[in-house]
Amino acid sequence: MPMFVDTSPPGECIFCRLAAREIPAALVFEDDQTLAFMDIGQVTPGHVLVATRRHAATLTDVTPEEAAAVMQTAHRVARAVQAAFDPPGLTLLQANGAVGGQTVGHFHMHVVPRHADDGIALTWPRK
Ligand code: C5P
Repeated sequence: MPMFVDTSPPGECIFCRLAAREIPAALVFEDDQTLAFMDIGQVTPGHVLVATRRHAATLTDVTPEEAAAVMQTAHRVARAVQAAFDPPGLTLLQANGAVGGQTVGHFHMHVVPRHADDGIALTWPRK
C-alpha cells in the first residue's frame, strides 16, 4: 500500500510539468482536455497513462466533462495498444488517495496490457 501521494500544487506536479513539456515524456496522444503517455515504470509493455491536462487531484476533483474526456482517450489508447501489442487482456485502473493506491496526485487512468501469468495483482480480489 503506497504511503505517499505527490501533492505538489498545480503547475508544479510531475504531470503538470510533463504537460507543459518541462520534462520529457513519451507522449502518445493529446487533446484539449487530456494527454496520454507511456508510464515510466511499464508494468507490462504498452502500459499507458491518461491524465487530465488541468491539474485536479482525484476523481471527485475533475469535472464530468474531464472524466468523460479521460475515458474517451483511454478508449482510443486501448484500441491503439490492442493493435500494437495484441495483449489477450487489458486492465484499466484509476487510483484515488494514498489508501486507494494513488502515488501521483494529478488525476490519471492506467491502461495496462495483460497476459496470462503476468504476475500483476490488478484484478479485484474476488473469492
Ligand atoms: O496510480 P498511481 O498514482 O500510483 O500512478 C502513478 C504512475 O505514474 C506510476 O505508474 C508511475 O510509474 C508513473 N510515473 C510516470 N512518470 C513520472 C512519474 C511517475 O509515468 N515521471
